[in-house]
Amino acid sequence: MSLGEQWRSARPKVAGLHLDSAACSRQSFAVIDATARHARHEAEVGGYVAAEAAAPVLEAGRAAVAALTGLPADHVVFTTGANHALDLLLSSWPGERSVACLPGEYGPNLAIMAANGFDVRPLPADDHGRLDVEAAARLLGAGPPAVVHLTALASHRGLMQPLAALANVCRDLGIPLVVDAAQALGHLDCAVRPTAIYSSSRKWLAGPRGVGVLAIDPDLAQRLCPRLPPPEWNLPLSVIERLQHGEANVAARVGFSIAVGEHLAAGAEQMRTRLAEVGRWTREASSDIPGWRVVEPLDEPTAITTLVPTDGADPQKVRAWLIAERGVVTTYAEIQRAPFELTVPVLRASPHVDTTREDLAQFAEALTAATAEV
Ligand SMILES: *Cc1c(COP(=O)(O)O)cnc(C)c1O
Repeated sequence: MSLGEQWRSARPKVAGLHLDSAACSRQSFAVIDATARHARHEAEVGGYVAAEAAAPVLEAGRAAVAALTGLPADHVVFTTGANHALDLLLSSWPGERSVACLPGEYGPNLAIMAANGFDVRPLPADDHGRLDVEAAARLLGAGPPAVVHLTALASHRGLMQPLAALANVCRDLGIPLVVDAAQALGHLDCAVRPTAIYSSSRKWLAGPRGVGVLAIDPDLAQRLCPRLPPPEWNLPLSVIERLQHGEANVAARVGFSIAVGEHLAAGAEQMRTRLAEVGRWTREASSDIPGWRVVEPLDEPTAITTLVPTDGADPQKVRAWLIAERGVVTTYAEIQRAPFELTVPVLRASPHVDTTREDLAQFAEALTAATAEV
């Protein structure tokens, strides 16, 4: 069985076409069952006893995240999502609060930076929005911010950012690098051992909703000052324990741990190769649809494709028509996702490894029909 067939047979049959993995992938039977089993176990033995029993599974989940990021497993913290992870990190940030990031930075991340009192300055990018590494090295060397933040793969555009090159630049200059891997983990190579990296469960790793992770370099972790509980209480808790503090959906964390394990078992590199391939197929299938322009270069090694309307089509209405009339799920990406880069809303197609060329031909036909209808 091919990787795609394996992935498809491991999950419930899809109703229609699912081209929405950048929003939320389809979970496997194993993930759904593990999550449900944990909930049942909570009812049998009590939620806190069940959580103790789940510790080894969660440990394996942290180890899998460690393998994908290059950071130590005992410095991986579960969160409720990527935004929560960034807020947790920035609200604990020691010292000066200034951050450099791309003009195309994710809108909600910019809001979290602002809410935590960070002064934001731009990193240099080319016309597509891709980081210019050499110009960035010069800029950062001349006036280093307290932290560099890179969204390794954006939500609104399927461009692979030069993560490894920027990690080297930041390491040489001694500037902490924080990476948003909400779209990149399980999709691109993120094992560059950045200072901190965070992600969501439900996107390319196909875990449950409502879970995320934050992995932190031990040297930074030592210096962080989590807001809760108040540091002056001097409670005997490590920084990691304090970051973990709070109520959690343990069943969802169990499901996520199983999902990352399945990803590694399938082969992280094979997954990356296959996602790049379905991305190219998507762009090939979409390149000649009247009324739309594909934003990404054909061979961009990601499975995110965005389409800009060239003749007045409304991506929000088109998305709704595709779901209602053809069972085809895509994303309407509004300007707020990248308020300083997107000038018009786009339609996003994000297939996972089980998508075939026939599926994408069907998508192109459906989109052509939708464009004529709405
Ligand atoms: C989805 C997304 C987020 C937010 O993730 P949540 O888990 O919903 O908080 C952050 N950054 C990027 C690039 C995303 O695509």
